[in-house]
Amino acid sequence: MSRVAYVGGQYLPHRQAAVHIEDRGYQFGDGVYEVIAVVRGVLVDEDRHLARLHRSLTELRINLPMGDGALKIVMREVIRRNGVDTGIVYLQVTRGVAPRDHAFPKAAKPVLVVTSRRSRPADPRLGRDGIAVITIRDIRWQRCDIKSVALVANVLGKQQAREAGAYEAWQIDREGQVTEGTSTNAWIVTSDNTVVTRAADHAILNGVTRAAIFDIMHREGYRLVERSFTVEEAKAAREAFLTSTTADLLPVVRIDGDPVADGQPGPLSRKLREAYLVHAAAAA
Ligand code: PMP
Repeated sequence: MSRVAYVGGQYLPHRQAAVHIEDRGYQFGDGVYEVIAVVRGVLVDEDRHLARLHRSLTELRINLPMGDGALKIVMREVIRRNGVDTGIVYLQVTRGVAPRDHAFPKAAKPVLVVTSRRSRPADPRLGRDGIAVITIRDIRWQRCDIKSVALVANVLGKQQAREAGAYEAWQIDREGQVTEGTSTNAWIVTSDNTVVTRAADHAILNGVTRAAIFDIMHREGYRLVERSFTVEEAKAAREAFLTSTTADLLPVVRIDGDPVADGQPGPLSRKLREAYLVHAAAAA
């Protein structure tokens, strides 16, 4: 089945789908995006993703060129036309096409792009054995709560992780506290079994997976604290893990080459991962 993309109002063959060279997303990173998991044809936590999309758009004063009802129809149509059963939907809204000038153009129409693709099943070893992270300085801007397409700092960080043989890079702010990964939220479990993750301030993206994990923890009575933690605390923690739409929940077993606890995925990470996978599958 050949791929199809929705671009600025049309369904086009993926190879021909393009935006103009003066699209402000291309020139300024002036746009936002969302990635939603599709499990057996159903969009996981769709309404939370749309709520976050609206928040990002509001912060950047970009209008969504259609209502949520129409957007949901377009996403389903893109999923259908691409024959996606399990995979992701990507959606992006930029401020539109206009002669290059930093200030908002008077007349540009926001451009919506929706794509979807199947995903290969994740390597089961990642969830079973855990992954390694490195730590890097957080060099991003001060509004990481906005899901902006301007991701070059995240790109550099992820590449650094890849070159170090790690799955992710945890970013460290000026106070020495972990903010988040380059495309994932960061968590630890303390010696008294309290789950700790940074509060959703302007330094992190408020993950939809993070919110789903909060729900699971509240339901199951886990102790949860939203606060910052240092790399030293993470290295000395009982467990560590990361979350995102595409990674689900992965145990972190090494930080900068040092093992977290005994270097094996901890029981709480394992339980939460199982519960999250049930949540994602239950959407379907
Ligand atoms: N932080 C960053 C910087 C991200 O790019 C992502 C992935 N969108 C996340 C956290 C996790 O968010 P979510 O759980 O909504 O995928």
